[in-house]
Amino acid sequence: LLIQVHRWVNYESMLKECLVGRMAVKPVVAPKVSFIMILYNFFVSKLMKDCSCFYLSSLLEFIQYAKQVSLIWLLLSLSYDWFQTDSLITVVIYTKQKDMNAELVIVDCQEKRLRGEIIVGDHSYLVEVDFDHEVQEDMTVNIAEKVGKVEIILKKKGSIHWKMLGQPLESHNTFIKRMDRGLFYRRCKLVSKTEVTHDTRLLCLMLPKSTHLRVPTGQHVYLKQIVAGTEVVKPYTPVLPFLPLDFKQPSHHDGAHLYLMIKIYSCGLFTQALDHLQIGDYICVSNPDGNFKKSQVQALEDLFLLAAGTGFTPMIKLLNFTLTEVSCLRRVRLIFFNKTEDDILWRNRLEELALKDERFEVHFILSQPTKEWVGKQGKISSSLLSEFVKRSRKDSKVLICICGPTPFTEQGVQYLKDLGYSQEEIHAFTA
Ligand code: FAD
Ligand code: NAP
Repeated sequence: LLIQVHRWVNYESMLKECLVGRMAVKPVVAPKVSFIMILYNFFVSKLMKDCSCFYLSSLLEFIQYAKQVSLIWLLLSLSYDWFQTDSLITVVIYTKQKDMNAELVIVDCQEKRLRGEIIVGDHSYLVEVDFDHEVQEDMTVNIAEKVGKVEIILKKKGSIHWKMLGQPLESHNTFIKRMDRGLFYRRCKLVSKTEVTHDTRLLCLMLPKSTHLRVPTGQHVYLKQIVAGTEVVKPYTPVLPFLPLDFKQPSHHDGAHLYLMIKIYSCGLFTQALDHLQIGDYICVSNPDGNFKKSQVQALEDLFLLAAGTGFTPMIKLLNFTLTEVSCLRRVRLIFFNKTEDDILWRNRLEELALKDERFEVHFILSQPTKEWVGKQGKISSSLLSEFVKRSRKDSKVLICICGPTPFTEQGVQYLKDLGYSQEEIHAFTA
């Protein structure tokens, strides 16, 4: 009615900030009260069964029980709904999470199938339905961050009135651990391929128009392709298209493209096949994975990045994120290990950044330098780390991130622990 009578009203933007649904008739129980109720119910039921309820096993059992209940509580707060106009279908997911953001929302609409995944901690909520009718390729995702409302807006093909949204799939409306969800892939188009060094390329992949996917800082995706008749999957860490030199504003990227910096190995199964992809070819890209959390860099003063070869890739977004968003950051020091000068990725840009931003320093260390190399040489070692990894002041909040070949990472972590850094102060990027 509103649309018919007040056509000029932009109801979509008005609805964006609203919670649509029925007014609750039951008073909502505050989480604190419900926790006390859980505690009470648990111990009363235990006491009725067995008076020795304060044994450790009971306590552990209780913790498990409380965990289950809090998960159920979370699940109950997640729900979805849908509505339509003559031309649009809007699916709304109510998460009631106050810190909802674009990185926590992954939506794909392929053929007539909608898949909307919401990440909540280490769990995921899924809406997955096969539509009864066709929709166009275009899709808009609006996220009202403060109220945790996610709106997926699709354009109908034809102005048919939909009687129902469609058929729910097996995993529809489930809330389970992320790691149990399995990887979901979509086909992305290779739109450009540029040389970074003699063996490393920057690939730009375009996401389908009906995909909403933002890979969080420090996380990787899996690429999947058929190589010699077999399906092969390998992880790669998305990077930025270039290294920004100005960190005053958070850099906004269109979200439609994914950039990957990939080293092509002369006898590499996957990378050889990847190098043979032509512009316009497609490759399957998974949902993000990885255990790095932005909270690890909150209130950070010193950040050390130890990278070997393509182990530089997770450091790119991390550098950009911390220099832009972490206000108390005093120093970022990148210690970049390579075989030769020709292997150094984005060397000029890193040197430019070090000149421009006084918080940032870069040190190149070569293991197989030519005679002309006047810089540092060697491999990761305890003495080298004690020289480069130092707090800017006593007790400063520090994080040391490390990434490279597995033995490099493992040795590095051990040296850092021997130097007195705690587990929380070290983050190793691995699969
Ligand atoms: P394979 O057929 O597996 O190996 C062939 C030869 O290549 C080996 O004999 C060896 O000489 C060399 N080789 C292969 N893999 C390695 C290796 N891991 N370390 C050293 N030498 C190797 N790579 C990137 O280029 N960019 C990235 O952003 C990136 N991100 C990654 C993220 C994660 C979480 C992990 C675990 C790995 C990442 N890698 C990245 C490595 C990537 O997943 C593959 O291992 C690599 O591309 C080689 O695959 P391949 O099939 O071509 O080589
Ligand atoms: P590379 O060119 O072979 O090596 C880079 C530097 O690391 C060289 O100085 C090399 O010295 C040194 N190095 C290699 N192996 C070492 C070891 N065992 N101990 C100490 N130093 C060692 O590296 P690359 O081919 O680019 O490989 C990069 C690695 O990073 C891959 O294994 C990739 O899987 C990994 N990676 C992981 C992630 C992640 O987990 N998130 C992301 C990106 C990349 P030498 O001259 O002695 O070889």
